[in-house]
Amino acid sequence: MKEREKVLNLRRREMVETLKLYGIVNHRVLNAFLEVPRHLFFDADAVGSAYNDGAYPVGFGQTISQPYTVAFMTSLLVERCSSGKVLEIGTGSGYQAAILDALGYSVYTVERIFELYERAEKLFSRLRLNITCRFGDGTLGWMEEAPFDGIVVTAGAPKEPGSLLQQLAEKGCMVIPVGNSDSQQMTVFQRKGNDFIKERFQHFTFVPLIGKEGWNDSVFLPHF
Ligand code: SAM
Repeated sequence: MKEREKVLNLRRREMVETLKLYGIVNHRVLNAFLEVPRHLFFDADAVGSAYNDGAYPVGFGQTISQPYTVAFMTSLLVERCSSGKVLEIGTGSGYQAAILDALGYSVYTVERIFELYERAEKLFSRLRLNITCRFGDGTLGWMEEAPFDGIVVTAGAPKEPGSLLQQLAEKGCMVIPVGNSDSQQMTVFQRKGNDFIKERFQHFTFVPLIGKEGWNDSVFLPHF
């Protein structure tokens, strides 16, 4: 193995040790973080930042989320819905989708910025990942592929989109940060018939979920 690969593998193991220190305990999740080379989701000149525990710009004003944030959201999903069909809203770099794929979910992902959608689709194909992507407004979900056992929204929403709740399967759960433009509370909705059991967790700061059932593009006003 080349020296560069050895260093990146070591840094990935260190990243996983940091996740453990921060309280991520789910072994399946930790193994997925070991398995997926995060640096492949970075531009060549930014690979040195791939294993820092921070968010990083991916262009177009968007970010690849901090590893801890991805691990926290993924753990909430895995502990409630351990297998099946999952919809991710906000493909971005494609890293979260690749983590879900490594966990054995059947993954669908939607991105509203065409250049990011196109870049992620090419990367999934190059890495031979069986992830289905779509360009569009993810606040409306993916009706043709519903119902989903899990939905993970990786941008901050002013309110849970009703269309996404309606596309959850029975016992399916949605992990979504909900709040204002500065701070959002990680929230889980689990479907029980026509009801949704809601759990709230810690606060994070995400880029906005922009769309028909999210924030308004120009002024960040919610439109419902
Ligand atoms: N999951 C990504 C990753 O692993 O790199 C990080 C996501 S980034 C924090 C949030 C993404 O959500 C951005 O790429 C943004 O363009 C996208 N986004 C925002 N609103 C959206 C919408 N209505 N539908 C689809 N994607 C949306």
